[in-house]
Amino acid sequence: MNLLPRLPCVFDARYCTTAARAISTTKQAEVVRAALHEGLLNLRPWTFNATRAWANVERVHEPAYVRAVRCGQPRSRAESQGFTWSPEFAQSVARIWAGHIYSCRLALAEGIVFHPVSGAHHARREHGAGFCTFNFLVGAGLAMLDGHRIGRVAIVDLDAHQGDGTHALVGDDRRFGLFDIAGQDWIGEAESDRALLSVVHSAEHYATALSHLPAFLDRFEPGLMQYQAGMDCHQDDPVGGIAGVDAAFLARRDRFVIAEVVRRGIPLVINLAGGYQSDGTTVALHVETMRIAADAYRRLADDISEEELGELYDKIDAEMAQHPPSDDELRREVHRMNDTAPGE
Ligand SMILES: [Zn+2]
Repeated sequence: MNLLPRLPCVFDARYCTTAARAISTTKQAEVVRAALHEGLLNLRPWTFNATRAWANVERVHEPAYVRAVRCGQPRSRAESQGFTWSPEFAQSVARIWAGHIYSCRLALAEGIVFHPVSGAHHARREHGAGFCTFNFLVGAGLAMLDGHRIGRVAIVDLDAHQGDGTHALVGDDRRFGLFDIAGQDWIGEAESDRALLSVVHSAEHYATALSHLPAFLDRFEPGLMQYQAGMDCHQDDPVGGIAGVDAAFLARRDRFVIAEVVRRGIPLVINLAGGYQSDGTTVALHVETMRIAADAYRRLADDISEEELGELYDKIDAEMAQHPPSDDELRREVHRMNDTAPGE
């Protein structure tokens, strides 16, 4: 079956490294490969400017910490998230940072974008934590807000762990709204007009907490939503794991979240977040999120006229033209990967 138009996806094989002992820094490529085989994705070429990316990271994280990650010294600080540092790892986190900003920009034009990355929400200003190096959620949110493209950003964090780093970095900035459901308590529960943090220990309580999402979106009215579609809440996950949360529950969760966001016309960027089952279960769960998002994107695209679609692509091309000289190697790689998808 030829599924067109396919879900826009931003990816670079160099996101993946051997920095982690678990699948944290390798699962991304597996997920993309599986989704390409199903013809779900349209990998969008993009250019990476390292100098610009590292400078931008310093807008969120302390310059001395950023230097430590970039150079590997002091090693204790470069590895404060729990990974093994290497020059390739340093490059990968800068690339992911830039890729997330590009994904958000693309989502404002295209509606839904998948950015298959993880490892943001525990990172603090001065150090990494819990397998998170830099908080690209906050970084990309600020980039979109500062460009005055939008007035408010919602971060919906359904990873099994609380987004304590996001919470700390966003602080009193009222342009950010947080909706967080976790199975473990890192910062406690909270409820305000722009934050709803829940800690749940069963699928039943999870479903109740999730039912508050539509009201949260109506209250906060975000111009962009970043969705951490974490799979470590699956009941068998060795790092997370919430009783009764199985694959069918997680598929219902993602269908609900994506439908509520799309119904409101809110641009959406989805990332993988946590998930640590190395037997293929986690990868399969992430691919299911992609199927659901691809289905939502197809229906969204059906509603857009040819003319409107042309205007959107012109806008994106203009944005991309502002980038520095293209990264030919990456472009070749992207085309090669797209060529492996059926129906091309
Ligand atoms: Zn997690």
